[in-house]
Amino acid sequence: MIIRCWGARGSIPVSGKDFIRYGGDTACMEIRSENDEVLIIDAGSGIRNLGQRLITEEKHSAALLMTHFHWDHILGFPFFKPLYHESYHLENHGSLAVRRTIMEIINGIMAPPFFPVHIEDIRAQIHYREWEEESFSVYSFIVEPIALSHPNRGNGYKITENGKKFVFLTDNELGYRHENGWRYEDYREFSRNADLLVHDAEYTEDDYQKTKGWGHSTYKDALQLALDAGVRRLWLFHHHQERSDDDIDRMVLECREIIKSRNASLECFAMYQGMEITL
Ligand SMILES: [Zn+2]
Ligand SMILES: [Zn+2]
Repeated sequence: MIIRCWGARGSIPVSGKDFIRYGGDTACMEIRSENDEVLIIDAGSGIRNLGQRLITEEKHSAALLMTHFHWDHILGFPFFKPLYHESYHLENHGSLAVRRTIMEIINGIMAPPFFPVHIEDIRAQIHYREWEEESFSVYSFIVEPIALSHPNRGNGYKITENGKKFVFLTDNELGYRHENGWRYEDYREFSRNADLLVHDAEYTEDDYQKTKGWGHSTYKDALQLALDAGVRRLWLFHHHQERSDDDIDRMVLECREIIKSRNASLECFAMYQGMEITL
């Protein structure tokens, strides 16, 4: 599978000279199967550019998984151009835990006085599928959800294809257990031996003195999880809106020092918009 990042920022899109290398768009990931099928996770502002690419490629179908419905994960949805073409098919997978489909949510935000285009202008065929089992198939992927430790609930995912494991846990607070969230040990076992773990790394330890309970992790907690779970690669994700490129570089250097001091073989990067990897 190929994993590509279209937006790695948390909370709100940012722009300016301090955010050039890691990018300013909010959460959106693309996972391509070996048969070139497209699975999208989250519809933050990064999904706008992904939509552009799908149109250029004349790729007429995709599946969409949502982690949750906070603004930074849905705000790009009305700007996803394939929605306005009837030749496009979008399969949306949701769970009973979240209890609402993306169309119900979007129906709320694409309404006066919030937005000028009506939901009736959406021409794409959107199919909603609800899962109840512990894992389900999307194209050639096996998808396994896990409840996040985050306000208002949400899901993280493990996506497996041909023995390769990708774990995506954004908006997950390892240092505090929210309603419906799991224990640290559960996230550790869920991530065990993943080829790639992408984890929320919004805060520094200083930030966390004031933000405990807000639903995000420190980058050191994310690193500890990756080390404990024996994953091969960790990509830090959901960058704080004020974290400059240089700040993020420093976070990564510090993580690499810790990895070295533990004699571990973990590879650590901070995710940037446009970053991709083939597992
Ligand atoms: Zn978020
Ligand atoms: Zn959130």
